[in-house]
Amino acid sequence: MSVMVDEIRKIIHAEYDNLVALFGLRPLPLDVYVVDDSGAGGTSAYGTDRRNATPGYTPTHIVLPQEQGDLDYWRAVQPPFPPTCWDRHSDEWPAWRTDLWHEVAHQYQHQILKDWNVQDGDWGHAKGWPQSLAAMASRFTIGSDKLLGVL
Ligand SMILES: [Zn+2]
Repeated sequence: MSVMVDEIRKIIHAEYDNLVALFGLRPLPLDVYVVDDSGAGGTSAYGTDRRNATPGYTPTHIVLPQEQGDLDYWRAVQPPFPPTCWDRHSDEWPAWRTDLWHEVAHQYQHQILKDWNVQDGDWGHAKGWPQSLAAMASRFTIGSDKLLGVL
């Protein structure tokens, strides 16, 4: 076990390409980096402070920090797409996938539904979020509650 950040970056990009194609999104750069708590890690390639461990969607790029502990634990395995299981505690849903899909739901909310606003009182999870989940879930013929369960 254990995976290098370059390997996980490749796997995340392959998954992202699938999601972009399925949902007709305009692809954004993915800011995938290893979290560095020391304060000496500087910034990522996209200017994110590497102490930041919180994934996030922005109109220009998607921030996907990786914890070293997770990289030590994971294997370099591409999960099946579309997923065959919707249980976030299964091997099919490592944290990187959950994080990526969550941020892609915001991207869908922004780019397709045009209803994304981080200042909506719930960090973009108020207006447009339920509609985004419902639209995405319908492409996998599952309910949005099932999709929310892995995000
Ligand atoms: Zn969110």
